[in-house]
Amino acid sequence: MSAAFSFALTATDGAARSGVISTPRGEIRTPAFMPVGTAATVKAMMPESVRATGADILLGNTYHLMLRPTAERIARLGGLHRFMNWERPILTDSGGFQVMSLAELRKLTEEGVTFRSHIDGSRHRLTPERSMEIQKLLGSDIVMCFDECPALPADDKRVAESMRLSMRWAARSKEAFGDRPGHALFGIQQGGVTQELRAESAEALRAIGFDGYAIGGLAVGEGQEAMFGVLDYAPGMLPEDKPRYLMGVGKPDDIVGAVARGVDMMDCVLPSRSGRTGQAFTRRGTVNIKNARHANDPRPLDEDCTCPACRNYSRAYLHHVFRAQEIISSMLLTWHNLHYFQEIMGGMRAAIAEGRFAAWQAAFHAGRAEGDIEPF
Ligand SMILES: [Zn+2]
Repeated sequence: MSAAFSFALTATDGAARSGVISTPRGEIRTPAFMPVGTAATVKAMMPESVRATGADILLGNTYHLMLRPTAERIARLGGLHRFMNWERPILTDSGGFQVMSLAELRKLTEEGVTFRSHIDGSRHRLTPERSMEIQKLLGSDIVMCFDECPALPADDKRVAESMRLSMRWAARSKEAFGDRPGHALFGIQQGGVTQELRAESAEALRAIGFDGYAIGGLAVGEGQEAMFGVLDYAPGMLPEDKPRYLMGVGKPDDIVGAVARGVDMMDCVLPSRSGRTGQAFTRRGTVNIKNARHANDPRPLDEDCTCPACRNYSRAYLHHVFRAQEIISSMLLTWHNLHYFQEIMGGMRAAIAEGRFAAWQAAFHAGRAEGDIEPF
């Protein structure tokens, strides 16, 4: 195993890229989808099951873990990898985004953010320095800069001020992160949907210098068209020889469209969260397993899928356990969704490597436009 963190771009096809991120905890094949393990678990999944779906890396949430069970306790227990029994790479977010979306009584200053926990009302403070400390205590392999993302809708002035604050915090994050061989620090581009602000942000990040670059402030309600509009130029503003990570995306067609525009990494709660609400993503679109049409259907969710939910169970069974609120319902549908998302990633990686990404994309969209199989 190499002791260094590195990224090798192995193929490009149009703007789409495939490559490999090497870390001391293993390789991450890109484009990569990272399942979200918010509270040190990908809900309803054993870590070995997450790995079996094809995931090379997980995401952990600083905000949730700092509140419960606390980063200090996780560090005493050997770090997040050992704590949650996932020995492969982990990326942690900085806590910034979730402080803004979940915490109560937030107060934002140049120094950082003070807030009350949404769990028990206790008071906490996050700064770039504290975020770096927490992510180090967790033992994260890929650490994210502490940033601020304004709530939408926001005018250009507010977006610009917020972006410039995030750039000052990025410099402080880099300083506090220090020199940690084998661990990476990613900067986060902000600037909303304004090209000039995105360019200014990219310039500021490149001047500081990071191991990878995230595109932040998207997938926050602006819609796919606006997001793709930004992705038409934003990835190209970031260094070509470093991984590009689009935060919080997305639905299958968002993921494919982002990769087509030069994104290498993504994360989203969608496959796991939807699995718990009876929604399955398939190559023929979205299936709501709670619908009565599945009650007598002996066929699998997706005949071509090799996941345990599709190999061993009928739609009728999946419908029944969902209606009966059995735990296995969340387990099976989450497994299927994560498996399908990883299959999309693997399909894209192979297509990019072989220079047939456009054809792969056309087949992907044609399959999903077909819609679900006729009722039984
Ligand atoms: Zn399946």
